Amino acid sequence: MKLILLGAPGAGKGTQATRLAERYQIPHISTGDIFRANIKGNTPLGMQAKSYMDQGQLVPDEITIGMLMDRIHEADCSNGYILDGFPRTLAQADALDSKEEVDAAVNVDVPDETIVKRMSGRRVCPKCGEPYHTKYKVPAQEGICDRCGSELIIRKDDEPATVLMRLEVYHDQTAPLIQHYGNLNKLVSVDGTQELEAVTQAIVQALGE
Ligand code: AMP
Repeated sequence: MKLILLGAPGAGKGTQATRLAERYQIPHISTGDIFRANIKGNTPLGMQAKSYMDQGQLVPDEITIGMLMDRIHEADCSNGYILDGFPRTLAQADALDSKEEVDAAVNVDVPDETIVKRMSGRRVCPKCGEPYHTKYKVPAQEGICDRCGSELIIRKDDEPATVLMRLEVYHDQTAPLIQHYGNLNKLVSVDGTQELEAVTQAIVQALGE
């Protein structure tokens, strides 16, 4: 199965992608995660991506499309994949559609006010990468990582001004993909404000299981 997860930053695509990947036994591919791993490893790709990400802007298509197309041609994708955070522009969608027949594009629908609330509570451990939330995943000791004891931080792209910029970029460049995949009869929309498990169930049902 080849799936795309659409939705605003903070809509819960990553969480749902992890759950679906386990269920369907196919890899979860997050372009954001690939960029972050490259930044951590100080690779040339990471250095190119960092300034765009820190400002809440999209990394240019010329960099992103090649990187994703290479990834989906790796051996573990022979039975399909779940794309989380790609495509994010019409050019990315066209590049993907010209080479791949995806089964569905799932839109995880969450209103902007909810997104802002969710993202402003996000924290992360700078040392081991464990994610936290001031409301939904609270560490045992406030501001301290349960796993390694480091002081938690707000990821640069989760800072309030950057969140607003990312939402603007989303509406401007990524939201048109909902109509794009609707026109191709591939769109499935689910209410992303429900509990995690209910969102997963809604997706699985809509995919016809
Ligand atoms: P995410 O973790 O999916 O929210 O992505 C974090 C950041 O990585 C985004 O705000 C973009 O700067 C960059 N990024 C991730 N995926 C893409 C993509 N498909 N196209 C361009 N930039 C991307």
